[in-house]
Parts: sequence; C-alpha cells; structure tokens
Amino acid sequence: MSASKAEITEVFSSVQGEGIFVGARQIFVRFKGCNMACEFCDTPTGAAGKEYSCAVLMNEVRMIDGSNGPHHSVSLTGGEPLVYAEFLKSFLPLLKKEGFKSYLETNGTLPDALLDVIDLIDIVAMDFKLPSSTGGGAYWKEHLEFLKIAVRKKVFVKSVVTTDTKKEDVIEAVRLIRGVNKKIPFIIQPATPVKTFNKRPGENCLLEFLDIALKNEVENSRVIPQMHKAWGVK
Ligand code: SF4
Repeated sequence: MSASKAEITEVFSSVQGEGIFVGARQIFVRFKGCNMACEFCDTPTGAAGKEYSCAVLMNEVRMIDGSNGPHHSVSLTGGEPLVYAEFLKSFLPLLKKEGFKSYLETNGTLPDALLDVIDLIDIVAMDFKLPSSTGGGAYWKEHLEFLKIAVRKKVFVKSVVTTDTKKEDVIEAVRLIRGVNKKIPFIIQPATPVKTFNKRPGENCLLEFLDIALKNEVENSRVIPQMHKAWGVK
C-alpha cells in the first residue's frame, strides 16, 4: 500500500469507553491490521478494509462531525494506527487545520513511528502489553522508549489484566512509568470476555494490582473497565 493510502475498516461517531477520557464523544477511525496478536484482542478479525486517501478520510470525518458533532477529538484506533505512520504524516495536518484534536490509541511498541508523528498528535492513549496478559513476548524496551517520546504530549498508560497476569509484570510496568514521570496516569483495565476468551480477573486481584501502583508512587493509578461494553455501544 502506498504511503498516501491507508486501509481502514470503519469510521464512526461514538463515545470513548476506556481510560481517562472515558465518556468523551469521539469520531473513531479504525485502521486495519496490527503488528501484535494479543489473546484478549476484541478487534473484529477479517473485517474488510477500504482504501482511503487523506482527502477522502478528511471528508468523511467532516461529514460525521457535521451530523453528530461536536466531538471532543478524533480517535485513531485499530488494529495499530502507527503501522500507517507515513499516511498519518499527511493526514494529521489536515485534521489539525480543520480544528480537530487527535487521540492516538496505540499498543506502544513502535517508537520510531511515534517519533515521526508526535508533533502532530494531541493525546496518546498507550498500552503497556504485559506478557503474562497477552500470552506473547515482552516489550519493556519498546514501551520505555515509546513513553519517553509520548510524554511530550498528554499521555496515559493502560494495561489490560487477566486471570493470568503476574504481579511481577505490574511491578515492572509501574517501575518504568515512575522512571519517566510518576504523575502519568496508569489505568488497570480488567479484560472483557470476548468470543471464547473469558479471563476477567476478580476484585481481589484488581485491588492488589492497584495497590502495587499506588504504593510505588504512581499516584494517578485507577481501575477502569471497558465502559462502552457495559453501555452496549460500539
Ligand atoms: S495490540 Fe491491540 S489491536 Fe493489536 S492484537 Fe493487541 S489488542 Fe488487538
């Protein structure tokens, strides 16, 4: 795919269901594809993507805002939007020119791509992928590098936790955040059951993880589940 095009599965207006901007009205642009394969992923797999140019996407965002706005911001989500960093370099200036704020939802593993677009982003909602939660490898080095760039803008870190999550992973996440800035909000998000996956952790486990964060001075730590699932919105 050329840098001037991106494969996008949907563009729609809804309400942010995760993290510190929960409840904010947003336009969501869902990019197709991801560089990871988390066990708890709730992104529809196999959803058909459509090729968008920057101009066509801008037009669609403008139309949605006209009929459903005003919106707090435009959420670039996925999949992993930074897989399309070259496209974003062209698209984000258009968004900014028309007065929209950009909100990047990212798995936090592609620091070089973030560096290319950070000046054009307003808010970074970054995941720390805990290996015991995802069932995959560790990305501590990438996450640390990524967070050091993201902190130039408004940023918060989110980690999905499951019944498999080890407290050593939570301790390491907290240690890295504290090393960058202990005021960065850290959101502990219990995994929502999806398809055949059901590993939502219990209350005691969530409280233990929250205590680890707070006792290690990451003072803006919270437990927040995926609220859009509870509300029954997309
Ligand atoms: S990083 Fe996000 S989109 Fe990618 S597989 Fe994991 S949960 Fe799904």
